[in-house]
Amino acid sequence: MTTFHFELLDLPPAAETLRTEVREFLGKALGDQPSHERARSWGGFDREFSRKVGARGWIGLTWPKKYGGHERSALERYVVLEEMLAAGAPVSAHWIADRQSGPLLLRFGTEAQRERFLPRIARGELAFAIGMSEPDSGSDLASIRTRAEKVDGGYRVNGTKVWTSNAHLSDYMIALFRTRVVPDKKHEGLSQFLVDTKTPGINIRPIVDLSGEHHFNEVVFEDAFVPDDMRVGEEGAGWKQVTTELAFERSGPERYLSSIQLVIETIREVGKEPGERAAVAIGRLVAHLATLRQMSLSVAGMLEAGQNPNLEAAVVKDVGTGFEQEIPETIHALMGVEPRLESGDAFARTLGYLVEHAPSFSLRGGTREVLRGIIARGLGLR
Ligand SMILES: Cc1cc2nc3c(=O)[nH]c(=O)nc-3n(C[C@H](O)[C@H](O)[C@H](O)COP(=O)(O)OP(=O)(O)OC[C@H]3O[C@@H](n4cnc5c(N)ncnc54)[C@H](O)[C@@H]3O)c2cc1C
Repeated sequence: MTTFHFELLDLPPAAETLRTEVREFLGKALGDQPSHERARSWGGFDREFSRKVGARGWIGLTWPKKYGGHERSALERYVVLEEMLAAGAPVSAHWIADRQSGPLLLRFGTEAQRERFLPRIARGELAFAIGMSEPDSGSDLASIRTRAEKVDGGYRVNGTKVWTSNAHLSDYMIALFRTRVVPDKKHEGLSQFLVDTKTPGINIRPIVDLSGEHHFNEVVFEDAFVPDDMRVGEEGAGWKQVTTELAFERSGPERYLSSIQLVIETIREVGKEPGERAAVAIGRLVAHLATLRQMSLSVAGMLEAGQNPNLEAAVVKDVGTGFEQEIPETIHALMGVEPRLESGDAFARTLGYLVEHAPSFSLRGGTREVLRGIIARGLGLR
């Protein structure tokens, strides 16, 4: 039977030096921001913060210098992300572009697209959204129906995307459209496009989530024109590209650190001499955290070595998001504090935010059931 493996890995000294710099920067940039704000972490959108991160050279860290990157290692990038997320920094205005849209353009974009977009992304000036899901196509992404029909000089787009995080705040979206209908072959005829969100014919409508916040959107395309030079990669190669893009999305520290503010606040609340119950609960969480971190780092090391750790990445996302979801439940039971979104008590607000958002942790980026299908296939079980 095929199996997966995780190897322990030591971070290079350059990465630890960088960690100190990032910590100092975050200490000043975030100041005494309260924990319920920090709990938003990669949900927080702040263009000014992203520009500051870009000015420090921490976006596009691994990209070639000729495109505004910094040619540093994947492990150094890991440390930057880890510190940002552990501090609850509002990374959303550069996060998607740094993690997946930029790498996608590096790999499949034209030279003109790389020169036009990558340096601005690396400066923290461009925010990107992901236009994949549609009303009847989530897990079964290949069934999307939004059509991009070839017309003179470009494509005419009609259809609807849904759950598009921050589309209303973003400059561009990398969208997956159907450029050709191939009967009985839904994975064929798909293509990716760079879409300017201000294009006439695009209507971005808010979807309010269960906590009453607006970060999702429905994006409706009605005869929206997308020029030829905004297609990313070959026409019809969209499925292969999109699965590569999804691989950039899994296994990073964002898949186990989403509830970390609550752990930090709990440790602060119980103080240096916690009761036995608190010590056991916190010790257990921290042990899991340390193990997940090693697993996630191991995947980063394999990526750095040019390997293809898709199976290991799926395991980290499945186990990591389960851990992120367990934290609010465990701490709610331990502390006996009622979760409250509107409260003068920062602890109750942090708990309230995470209790309401935790269900989404195992949905975003591919659901738990779908990941387990990938793991089973990787192990040769289906
Ligand atoms: C916080 C958040 C942010 C998001 N941001 C974006 C975004 O920016 N852009 C974007 O394009 N999308 C985004 N999404 C959408 C996300 O990718 C989808 O919600 C996800 O892929 C699931 O699709 P669905 O909601 O249509 O559920 P469905 O695919 O309808 O699934 C419903 C249930 O059926 C299960 N299921 C489906 N197929 C199988 C199968 N083959 N085997 C076993 N079980 C199965 C699923 O696991 C799930 O439990 C976001 C979602 C969340 C929660």
